[in-house]
Amino acid sequence: MPVNVISRRMFLALSGAAALTATTSLPAFAASPEPLPVVASFSILADMVKQVGGDLVDVASLVPPGGDAHVYEPTPADARRLREARLLVVNGLGFEGWLPRLLSSAEFSGNVIEASAGIKPLPLGEPEEGDDHHHEEGHDHKDDHKDAEAAGHDHGHGDSDPHAWQDLRNGIVYVRNIAEALAAADPAHADEYRRNADGYAASLRALDDATRARFASIPRERRKVVTSHDAFGYFGAAYGIDFIAPLGASSEAEASAADIARIIDQIRDQGISAVFVESISNRRLIDQITRETGAAVGGTLYSDALSGPDGPAPAYLDMFRHNAGEIARALGAD
Ligand code: ZN
Repeated sequence: MPVNVISRRMFLALSGAAALTATTSLPAFAASPEPLPVVASFSILADMVKQVGGDLVDVASLVPPGGDAHVYEPTPADARRLREARLLVVNGLGFEGWLPRLLSSAEFSGNVIEASAGIKPLPLGEPEEGDDHHHEEGHDHKDDHKDAEAAGHDHGHGDSDPHAWQDLRNGIVYVRNIAEALAAADPAHADEYRRNADGYAASLRALDDATRARFASIPRERRKVVTSHDAFGYFGAAYGIDFIAPLGASSEAEASAADIARIIDQIRDQGISAVFVESISNRRLIDQITRETGAAVGGTLYSDALSGPDGPAPAYLDMFRHNAGEIARALGAD
């Protein structure tokens, strides 16, 4: 598969930032005991780079684990890291709205790759085309579209949903792209990067199969989940789950009593089985939702960032397993 390695100059041109006065093409990274310095835009990509690169790479994440890529402000330390990096791995699909400005201020001379290159993007706030489950069911999702758009989990650029890593098959595409970019930056270790990517992709595929089988055991009409973050479109498309953003709840502010009343109505109206609303930290309100609707209220889902090393989602594979487990449990899977 062709990997999308683009030069900094091209990236800036594509991003509409000021053109560089000079971009020199770099010689291939010489084989040396020093690990290849790589920067990833956020923690999920940094983990993928680590899985593929192992000890051959030294990877830093701009947005740290637990950080919010939506409101991220690059720091002077980020510009310093970028200056030393040979490769910058970004998601693309408009996820890193802050990146062009950082690139135009940092003296970065390596390559930029978009890990999502080659995946089939989903439109923002829309369910997928070509999803078997939805076609089988043949019911109308127009209301879901509206709700998702109203929730406005928007990275602000483009019409594509950037959260493509929430489908493990896309994750495998990311891993292949990363392996080819590392191989191009450090050809002496190309075989090792590709071998690591093969092993890692096999683990991702096994989890994809297991996740698919687990959700298939839950009746389709039960697979309706409310989440406060509109970040699970790809997950829903891949595994046949309707993710619906709650009316009247934002991911930032603590939900009010009126918000809770609206959410309860929505759960009843739409026959929703499980709720993941992170803005409701008040146990009493969670109990109220469960009491009045019978819907299960699940724990934390990780969408745009890993947890810290001691949390339940310190790596991409762990994050996916955790999210799938939380959702399946809340939907009443064994
Ligand atoms: Zn997001």
